[in-house]
Amino acid sequence: MRVAVAKEIEVCERRVALIPDTVARLVKQGLEVWIESGAGERAFFTDAAYEAAGAKIITDTATLWSQADILLKVSPPQERGDGHSEIAWLREGAVLIGFLNPLGNPSVAQQLAERKVTAISMEMIPRTTRAQSMDALSSQASIAGYKAVLIGAAALPKYFPMLTTAAGTIAPAKVFVMGAGVAGLQAIATARRLGAVVEAFDIRPAVKEEVQSLGAKFVEVKLEEETTAAGGYAKEISEASKQRTQEVVAEHVKNADIVITTAQVPGKKAPILVPEEMVAQMKIGSVIVDLAAEQGGNCACTDPGKDIVWNGITIIGPINLPSSMPVHASQLYSKNITSLMQLLIKDKALDVNFDDDILNAACITHAGEIRVSRVREALQALVISK
Ligand code: NAD
Repeated sequence: MRVAVAKEIEVCERRVALIPDTVARLVKQGLEVWIESGAGERAFFTDAAYEAAGAKIITDTATLWSQADILLKVSPPQERGDGHSEIAWLREGAVLIGFLNPLGNPSVAQQLAERKVTAISMEMIPRTTRAQSMDALSSQASIAGYKAVLIGAAALPKYFPMLTTAAGTIAPAKVFVMGAGVAGLQAIATARRLGAVVEAFDIRPAVKEEVQSLGAKFVEVKLEEETTAAGGYAKEISEASKQRTQEVVAEHVKNADIVITTAQVPGKKAPILVPEEMVAQMKIGSVIVDLAAEQGGNCACTDPGKDIVWNGITIIGPINLPSSMPVHASQLYSKNITSLMQLLIKDKALDVNFDDDILNAACITHAGEIRVSRVREALQALVISK
């Protein structure tokens, strides 16, 4: 059984799917591991370190893709500048594992199905207790939450902690976190560690206790509708509820030095939580870090991938923050991937068992079919929109 790790070719992707430590464990299990030369270099893992862990370094990309039983990646397969399609390199029946973005870009799933690849999408792993060690959305979101506070703090023209100095007392920074999922909770914890006074808001009332246990104040908005969907995710809320939440949060946004927004609804454009008129009320010098920038942004003024200054407010819309901490992001992702692979391999051979609820949910294509109804629906919507 041959497991291969491809080099990420997207400019903004510095992570790698396996790190040398986990390679050593897979080799010990009797798997053959191939690493594309340079796959780990932007995460500071050298070819020599992979070789020492027992991997074989492959310089020919097409050979690596076409001879893999399991091909591991971080981001979805690409059409290359030189005209080659990575999907076309894969052999029929091969397994591909990565963040495949099947709801955002379902045409990749269609191509994988046509190629008869068994594709497992890390985004589709259920958020259950049993799947925790494979939950790459959480491991990477946690990094994004941490880093959001650091870049916000670096952009803020103020101290974070309260300081009593000979030259006077400095008040602590006020941080307002909107969306208290995995990224939001890590942002709260990080801002607290740096000494800020933190408030947080989420439409799911279930997070109140978690927010409070991290030392932040929970801003509560009572809504007359169910805000939690299956799997604990947030639902898209009605216009009336949106208006009600905006009335309540406006005051907290106005008083904050840093607003960190993380709100997402799976498969949908990110909700606007901070409209232009709310930004206009903020103090000049304040900072917004919009972690939903890739999904369109939670702030109406966000320009994805850019740092802008709008009427004296700095608005940062980072793309792929986990990639900016590639060592630990790769370490955690590598652990998530190897945990998942334990479900796929029996007696050193591939065994994709759809009776397993994790594989059943995460395997988006198999034997020429798109298996997941949400992905089929996303594809249909794409076809209709064209
Ligand atoms: P996410 O990235 O989908 O969204 C981030 C947060 O934004 C969520 O807390 C969501 O409620 C919130 N949000 C959405 N719309 C909003 C709005 N209009 N206003 C304010 N907030 C809004 O969330 P996530 O971090 O991926 O977590 C999703 C769910 O998965 C949560 O219930 C989480 O507890 C759960 N989870 C479970 C496990 C586990 O049991 N193993 C692990 C991780 C996450």
